[in-house]
Amino acid sequence: MPNKIRLVVHGAAGRMGQSVLRIALERDDCEVCAALAPSQSTLIGEPLSQVYGKGAPDIEFTSQLDPDLLPDAMIDFTGARAFDTALGLAVGRRIPFVSGTTGLSDDQRLALADAGRSIPVLWAANFSLGVALLRRMTAVAATVLPAEFDAEIIEAHHKFKQDSPSGTALALGRAIAQARRVDFDSVARYGRAGVTGPRRDGDIGFSVVRAADIVGEHTVLFAAPGERIELTHRAGSRAVFAHGAVRAAIWLARQRAGTYDITDVLG
Ligand code: NAD
Repeated sequence: MPNKIRLVVHGAAGRMGQSVLRIALERDDCEVCAALAPSQSTLIGEPLSQVYGKGAPDIEFTSQLDPDLLPDAMIDFTGARAFDTALGLAVGRRIPFVSGTTGLSDDQRLALADAGRSIPVLWAANFSLGVALLRRMTAVAATVLPAEFDAEIIEAHHKFKQDSPSGTALALGRAIAQARRVDFDSVARYGRAGVTGPRRDGDIGFSVVRAADIVGEHTVLFAAPGERIELTHRAGSRAVFAHGAVRAAIWLARQRAGTYDITDVLG
């Protein structure tokens, strides 16, 4: 393994991709060897130094991964469709694969698990340390509190977000369902409108806000008559997720084939 982990950034033109590039370029234990964007992106052919200054490596944004490159890890933040391309590329070229792309289908989750048999893979709905802790605290609360406590998850994101509820909100809901030993899909309730009747016992409700430039906020609410517990995480900058993803990629580059969780990296 080289001293500097060679990273491919897939989705390099996106909000997260650019944040990942910025963070990776600041570190001395990794280097960016490819920045992949769709062929129609205006960034194709632009030198990275044009966007990130003189410290950037002497490469251009491209749509294809150079067949001669030997990357140590790939980081993907794109969308559900581009995710398939990224995973296919990682498996085909045997590149350890980190992805934060949300809105994946069940089939895509299966494909990810399957890929873990031949390469190291790590997918996380959220790469922040704070959210990893929130997930743990949520599982503890759901284990300790009796099922009479109603569980609701409220999330807020910027107005361009494509999927809803967020992958993090779903992961928090799954943590509650797992702690309560119930099937998540049978208790998840997505939004309420019209004459809904009373709340069904045991449901896990999701409420979604989309506005302006909110980076990401999640509240897990447990309520029983007369008392309420609220666990909240607010991300103020995408850099929080980018730092976590780059750290995860550097760590994953040294692992054997398998499916890993963000808590394996963050502890
Ligand atoms: P974005 O729309 O700004 O960026 C997505 C980028 O993917 C776009 O630039 C698009 O051009 C690019 N893309 C599409 N097809 C491509 C292809 N075939 N090859 C290369 N690039 C391609 O979105 P974003 O805000 O950067 O978010 C991206 C994903 O990351 C979303 O699913 C979002 O929910 C998720 N996200 C995850 C975390 C986390 O911590 N896990 C944090 C923030 C966002």
